[in-house]
Amino acid sequence: YKNAPSNMRELVDVGRNHGDQEFLVYQQERTSFKQFFEKVDALGHHLLNNESLLKGDRIAIAMRNYPEWMIAYTAIISIGAIVVPLNSWGSSDELCYGLEDSGAKYVICDLPRLQLVKPLLASMDCKAIVAREKSRDEQGVQYLEDILAKNSGHPLPMVAINPDDIAQIMYTSGTTGRPKGAVSSHQNICQAMYSFEFHATCSAMANPSAIEKMFAGGFAPCTLLSVPLFHVSGCYAAFLLNLRGGRKTVMMYKWSPAEALKLISAERVTIFSAAPSMVLDLLRHPDFANSDTSSLFSLGGGGSACPPSFKDTIETTLDNAYVGTGYGMTESNAICASCTGEAYFYKSSSAGTLSPLVEWQTRDENGQVLAKNETGEIWLKSICNIQHYWNKPDADKATFDGKWMATGDIGYLDEENFVYLVDRAKDLIIRGGENIYPAEIEACLSLHPSIAEAVIIAVPDERLGETPGAVIRVRANSEINVTEINAYLSDKLAAYKIPSQVWIRTDEMPRNAAGKVLKSELKRQYIR
Ligand code: ATP
Ligand code: MG
Repeated sequence: YKNAPSNMRELVDVGRNHGDQEFLVYQQERTSFKQFFEKVDALGHHLLNNESLLKGDRIAIAMRNYPEWMIAYTAIISIGAIVVPLNSWGSSDELCYGLEDSGAKYVICDLPRLQLVKPLLASMDCKAIVAREKSRDEQGVQYLEDILAKNSGHPLPMVAINPDDIAQIMYTSGTTGRPKGAVSSHQNICQAMYSFEFHATCSAMANPSAIEKMFAGGFAPCTLLSVPLFHVSGCYAAFLLNLRGGRKTVMMYKWSPAEALKLISAERVTIFSAAPSMVLDLLRHPDFANSDTSSLFSLGGGGSACPPSFKDTIETTLDNAYVGTGYGMTESNAICASCTGEAYFYKSSSAGTLSPLVEWQTRDENGQVLAKNETGEIWLKSICNIQHYWNKPDADKATFDGKWMATGDIGYLDEENFVYLVDRAKDLIIRGGENIYPAEIEACLSLHPSIAEAVIIAVPDERLGETPGAVIRVRANSEINVTEINAYLSDKLAAYKIPSQVWIRTDEMPRNAAGKVLKSELKRQYIR
């Protein structure tokens, strides 16, 4: 996009035009655009003028979804430093890994996160700035509240930022292994944000009746931010898009469908986009029928495979909303394909059409480019793609081929350029030489009325190498046994795809912060 801003400071500065309008609602706290940028300016001024910050220094953010997360992010990218959003949900292990890996000079964190990284800070010469709560026991830390008070009224200093300067190291979700630091330039993210805006415009045009109803009802666009800020979905599609677009954003500390329903009705939320499992949590919640969701006009589920019942559930539960899905990854800055409007239903298993900035190749194991409708590994070329991984030369070698980037996903493009995802390359099960895609078996099992969720993992087998094993979460008040499961599947799948082992559970599957099931954890629970 030629008219896209060339750096992220210009990108976010558009939000300043919205002045006294309400930007952020977080519990009892309400912040206008003007108040938000006053804090950004004060922090940016402090970091540049009172700290010995050099261009290219990394500043990590390690806190839960708080307004201060957004203030810190906006200040860091506006002063030419590199922002490192860390996964703040997990153990100290993940946090320390990110801090050490990125070599951050500062970490802006909340008090619980400070406790988790404290032993590491001294050894790596990293200073902490603590947001929200204060503690009398902490020595040598600064408090964000004091910094904002002392520096209030100062404008943000001007800094020259080039489009190719590094803006961010964002960690992948860690679904298939250790999270990897994905390094983006300012230009990569600005182009990705313009792609989001393009998709938003296309979505509105593809769903004219929902938009008309929204305006007729007098609802102003308002987003419910229910996912963590430290991944692309929360950071770009919710936070940055709304900051630029002048839309009210209602932020949740953590996901709770009952709380989400209350907020949708109280704040008149119009846009809700999250992992497919969360959208289903919301629509199937017992409070749903008694909640006022009449303002909800846009519903999205992406980032992981949707169960086949997903679209039916949406269609039968919400008749005034337009729905959409998308496919992307941290390494493409979330941009690849999206789908909404009529196509969402008539191409019901597709993740949508390619963004105008994205070129696509499907390649076989030997690197040969395949034709339309042929299944292979997806490679992407796009100005939104990251530059490289941070400190991971081996991963770089395996992932980048000139301007092309391997996604680790298997799929194909149909004759109308719609994207279909088959599975992740790493999850492929090879049973005695036959390829089995777990996603196919999972989709089939999830249609059974007694099954809430099914996950297929590889079970080592002396003779066949590996076979599929099924972990099944039964629905509340339902029962199912292994014989019934096998009988159900034998009608629908070839014999070699029938799971060799079935484990039944009633509790939730282990998930990461992006809401994705951790197959490695399931393997540890059931196999090792
Ligand atoms: P890691 O790379 O650390 O193992 P991750 O791949 O889950 O973790 P993300 O970058 O957050 O980290 O996720 C991108 C991946 O999510 C994609 O490569 C793809 O496998 C999956 N994904 C995204 N959108 C969809 C979708 N619509 N349908 C199916 N899978 C999807
Ligand atoms: Mg990945």
